[in-house]
Amino acid sequence: MCIDLKVVDKTTNTNRETCDFVRCNNCDIIMLVDNGIERCPCCNYQGALMWEQDGYEEIIYDNAGDILSGLEYNFSYKESKHE
Ligand SMILES: [Zn+2]
Repeated sequence: MCIDLKVVDKTTNTNRETCDFVRCNNCDIIMLVDNGIERCPCCNYQGALMWEQDGYEEIIYDNAGDILSGLEYNFSYKESKHE
């Protein structure tokens, strides 16, 4: 098995504590987004975001790197995390 499960950091809220871990049904991108958004930040489609992992619907943003690599996803924070 050699699937590249890349997770894109699409959060924009700088006060984020948790974020939503979702996959877009329209563009098929797996990403972290701000809590509760319903419009995909990648393709702008409304209502296509689905939870990616049971039990990991919301994850602590600062722990996301460890959590996602533990789940064998490929994730790196976007550069704006280093403020
Ligand atoms: Zn999308």
